[in-house]
Amino acid sequence: MTHEVPPSHPPADAAAPRGGDPGRAPAPGPGPEERPATAPAVPGSTSGPATTGPATTASPATGSAATGPAAPMEADVIVVGAGPAGSATACYLARAGVDVLVLEKACFPREKVCGDGLTPRAVKALVGMGVPVDEQDGWVRNKGLRIIGGGVRLELPWPELSSYPGYGLVRTRLDFDEILARTAQKAGARLLEGVTVTGPVLDENGRIVGVRTRSSAGEEGPAEGGPRRAGDSPGVAGGRPPGPAEPERTYRARVIVAADGNSSRLSLAMGLSKRDDRPLGVAVRTYYTSPRHDDDYLESWLDLWDGQRLLPGYGWIFGMGDGTSNVGLGLLNTSSSFGNVDYRDLLRRWLAGMPAEWGYLEENRTQPVRGAALPMGFNRTPHYTRGLLLAGDAGGMVNPFNGEGIAYALESGELAAQVIAQALARPDAAGAERVLMAYPQALKAAYGGYYTLGRRFVQAIGNPKVMQFATKHGMPRPALMRFTLKLLANLTESRGGDAADRVIHALSKMTPAA
Ligand SMILES: Cc1cc2nc3c(=O)[nH]c(=O)nc-3n(C[C@H](O)[C@H](O)[C@H](O)COP(=O)(O)OP(=O)(O)OC[C@H]3O[C@@H](n4cnc5c(N)ncnc54)[C@H](O)[C@@H]3O)c2cc1C
Repeated sequence: MTHEVPPSHPPADAAAPRGGDPGRAPAPGPGPEERPATAPAVPGSTSGPATTGPATTASPATGSAATGPAAPMEADVIVVGAGPAGSATACYLARAGVDVLVLEKACFPREKVCGDGLTPRAVKALVGMGVPVDEQDGWVRNKGLRIIGGGVRLELPWPELSSYPGYGLVRTRLDFDEILARTAQKAGARLLEGVTVTGPVLDENGRIVGVRTRSSAGEEGPAEGGPRRAGDSPGVAGGRPPGPAEPERTYRARVIVAADGNSSRLSLAMGLSKRDDRPLGVAVRTYYTSPRHDDDYLESWLDLWDGQRLLPGYGWIFGMGDGTSNVGLGLLNTSSSFGNVDYRDLLRRWLAGMPAEWGYLEENRTQPVRGAALPMGFNRTPHYTRGLLLAGDAGGMVNPFNGEGIAYALESGELAAQVIAQALARPDAAGAERVLMAYPQALKAAYGGYYTLGRRFVQAIGNPKVMQFATKHGMPRPALMRFTLKLLANLTESRGGDAADRVIHALSKMTPAA
C-alpha cells in the first residue's frame, strides 16, 4: 500500500552550516566504549611477568599470571561479553554440556545504545534460544517496515515465509540483554557481572589460554556491587559494596570467545584490528514520549539531507509501546559527508520537519542523544585465530544493507558454540584446532556472498546521485520495494521460495564471499 506524502526535497534548513562550526554540540561519533583501543597488539609477546596489581592496559600477559595471588579459575570456554552474541554463545555451549564462563564488565540491567528493533530474523533466533516472545511477556510486536522517502510512504508487511515468523519485535536493550543473559545462566552458563577483561593470557606460542580481569562493578549501570554469580537475583546488586580492592584475576580456558562488541579490545590485543576496506556505520538515538509509541510498524526515513546531498543512511522511529518512541539515525562511511556530519544537529533538523503532535520535541526527550558505531560486513577478520573466536560486533557482523546487528550476533553466537562443542569433543589438540579453524569458513558460507553484495550496495549509495536515483525510482514501485525489503532484511526461504528469493540466493551465491 502506498500513500503520497509531500514531495521529497532538502528540508528548509538543510543548508545549515556543519562541520567544525564553533558553538555546536560536538558530533557524538562512537561512544567511549566504541573508541578504538590503543592497546598494543603484540600476540606472541610473552616475555616479562604479569602484573599482579589492577591492570590498566590490554597488553597480553604471560601464562605466569596464573601463579599470581588470585587463584586461577578455569572453564572449558570463556566468553567475554554478555551482549546478544556472548549470551547466545554461552547458552548453546551450556546446552551442549560445555562448562562455559561468561565475563561481563557491566552489571545487569545495563543500557546499550541501540534502535531496539528486531526483525523476523532476530525473532527466529530468539525462539531458537527458547526465549518466550509473547506480548504478555513484555514484547511489542510489529507487522513490517514503513518506508518514507522520495515523496512516498510505503507500508511493507514482513514476508510470509516458512523460514521466518511474519512479525518483528521491539524491546529496550535494558531488558533485552538481561533476558538473554539470564537465559544463558538458566541453561547452565556461569556468568560473572562487573568483571572487565583487561587482556589475554598467552602461552609460549602466542595462543590465548586465558584472560586477565579487574572488577568494574559499580563503574557503570544502575546496579552496583561485586561480581555477581549465577543464582544471584537479577537486577539486584551483588550483595557486596563496590569494593576498592578487587584483585586482578586470571581465568583460563581451552577456547576463548570475543563477544565484547564493536571495540573488542580483546581482539585488538590479539592483533585483530578493524579493516579499513569494510563498511562502518555511525548511529545516534534517543527516546521521546509520543502518541506514536504503539505504532505497529517499524518506520524508516530515507530523506536525510546534508545541504543538497542525500545521505546514505536512514532515520528511524520505533514505537516502544511504553509511551515512548526510539528515534535515531545512522550514516555509512561510504559517503564523503561521513566524518563531517554533526549527528545531533542532523537529528534535530530531521525531527524539526515532523508534525508537532507526534511529540518529537526537546521537552519530550527522555534520554540523552547517544551514539555508537556499527561494524559491518565482516570488518574484523580472521574470525578465528590462536584459540580466539569472534562473534557478533566483535567480528564486524552487522548487516551492511540495513544496520541490523542483533540477529547476526545471536546467529554467529550459535554457530561459534556449535563449532566449539565439536572441537572440544576431539580427542587431540590437532583435531580440535582443525575444527576451530573451520569457523571463519562456516561464517563465510552463511553470510559471505550476501555481505559482499552489501558492501557493493553501500559503496554505490555512498554516491548521493545513486542514492537519490534509487529513492526516486524505487519508492513508487511497491513490487520492487517488496523485493528490496527481502534483500535488505535478508528474509528469504532457505530453500526454494518465490522468484525474489531465488534471485537473492543466486546473487549471494554468485558473489564471492570475502
Ligand atoms: C545507535 C544504534 C542503533 C542500533 N539499532 C539496532 C537495531 O534496531 N536492531 C539491531 O538488530 N541492531 C541495532 N544496532 C546494532 C546492535 O546494537 C549490535 O549489532 C549488537 O548489540 C551486537 O551485539 P554484541 O553482543 O556483538 O555486542 P554488544 O551488544 O556490544 O555486547 C558486548 C558486551 O560486551 C561487554 N564488554 C565489552 N568489553 C568488555 C570487557 N573488556 N570485559 C567484559 N565485558 C566487556 C559489554 O559490556 C557488552 O555487554 C544498533 C547499533 C547502534 C549503535
